[in-house]
Amino acid sequence: MTFDYDLFVIGGGSGGVRAARVAAATGAKVALAEEFRMGGTCVIRGCVPKKLMVFASGYSEMFADARAYGWDLTDGPFDWPRFRAKLHDELDRLEGIYRKLLDNSGVEICDARASLKDAHTVALSSGRTVTAKHILIATGGRPVVPDIPGAELGITSNDIFLLDELPKSILIIGGGYIASEFAGILNGLGVQVSQFYRGAQILRGFDDEARGLVAEGMREKGVNLHLGTNIVEMRAATEEDLQNNGIGAAVEQGKPVSFPSGKPTKGIWVKATNGTEAIFDQVMFATGRAPNTENIGLAEAGVQIGRRGEIVVDAYSQTGVPSIYAIGDVTDRVQLTPVAIREGMAFVETVFKGNPTKVDHKLIPSAIFTQPEMGTIGLTEEEARDIEPVEIYCTSFKPMNHAFAGRTDRVMMKLVVSSATRKVLGCHIVADHAGEMIQLAAIAIKMGATKEDFDRTVAVHPTMAEELVTMKDPVRRA
Ligand code: NDP
Repeated sequence: MTFDYDLFVIGGGSGGVRAARVAAATGAKVALAEEFRMGGTCVIRGCVPKKLMVFASGYSEMFADARAYGWDLTDGPFDWPRFRAKLHDELDRLEGIYRKLLDNSGVEICDARASLKDAHTVALSSGRTVTAKHILIATGGRPVVPDIPGAELGITSNDIFLLDELPKSILIIGGGYIASEFAGILNGLGVQVSQFYRGAQILRGFDDEARGLVAEGMREKGVNLHLGTNIVEMRAATEEDLQNNGIGAAVEQGKPVSFPSGKPTKGIWVKATNGTEAIFDQVMFATGRAPNTENIGLAEAGVQIGRRGEIVVDAYSQTGVPSIYAIGDVTDRVQLTPVAIREGMAFVETVFKGNPTKVDHKLIPSAIFTQPEMGTIGLTEEEARDIEPVEIYCTSFKPMNHAFAGRTDRVMMKLVVSSATRKVLGCHIVADHAGEMIQLAAIAIKMGATKEDFDRTVAVHPTMAEELVTMKDPVRRA
């Protein structure tokens, strides 16, 4: 049987684009369909614009630090429209690069929505129907919003980059990566930020000590973080609400209502699980993401969907339909751009290079761009001690740049070490540039480095990261 293409990729995010390019480089005839903008979540409404906003938000602290270091600076307000215009110019530039990379690799771009007709056939919203020997689904995910009264008044991380103006106050719902990162970003940009998280501590699943320090740091910087609290309902604030409620203040339990920037004149009225009420300019839901598996013909093609709406795949990213593969967030394995890229490369190795390759999902480092930032790899102390006896090496201190500037925030370096093998099982860093540090520590840990290997490495002085190789005694054994 002959096909129009050797490979048809659905979805132009990081994973899909990489797989398409690398497959085309093997000589395969490849097409890729994207219904929105090339680059996907990471480039258009995720990692990239988020990180640029992290940079932008960091300047408020830097101005204060600069004055402490002797610079004669006066800081003014943040000009959101100016930043936003530049941000979108940059995203346009990056999207152009993605298109050019595909073009240069010989991949045909279809600016259309694609859905499966059967195991080898794809229908495009442009009206074309094409066939392919292999189909790769890389449609990513989207934010989900809880089903509560008034939820439609809220925004998600998709909307934040498009706002005409920054709100004066915002309530962020959730305690995961996105909620906690945007709490820090918006706080740094001068927005009054409140955050509700239903659990006992934000960043569930990360090392307890590290997440505790992040939460403490966020509060110190001004985020009004409420744990064990969720939203019950919301609606447009009425005149009566506006008379009776302050911006985010009423949720401060036990404290008198205050009006940090005057009484609100408009906004969203919110009721919390603890019975308190407050008004915010904006409410943002960061309550998780769902795989984009709807209306893409999965049932028609016989592709199995799992409990969380994800495409079910094996270790080679192959679905139960042999010609159809899926990678990235749509498979809900590890929702991280570099993992989707790895999965795309492994798919090409397997299908187009005759070298069956599983993706190694073990020991994936990641950074959470909260303020303070966290970098992490491997087991948390809590996970490790349930598996085997461990030694915990941990230090928390005021770094010299903060101390000099008169800041109170501390950093943390922590190693979780197997008592039996001496291998470093986990590393957790809370500090400026923790993401950069963990990338390098991850190489050693992925290679199986022991605590003694770390100790044999000469410290780079004076740095924060030198603590990783100078911690002599465990703070506890567990
Ligand atoms: P997460 O799954 O990390 O967090 C979702 C949060 O929402 C959790 O705190 C969860 O609480 C809470 N939640 C879920 N449902 C409700 C509800 N009905 N009411 C109130 N709270 C609720 O998702 P995110 O959207 O933050 O991020 C999605 C993924 O994107 C991450 O898992 C990560 O893999 C990736 N990402 C990575 C980044 C990075 O690498 N720096 C940055 C941003 C995203 P609970 O804990 O109780 O379930």
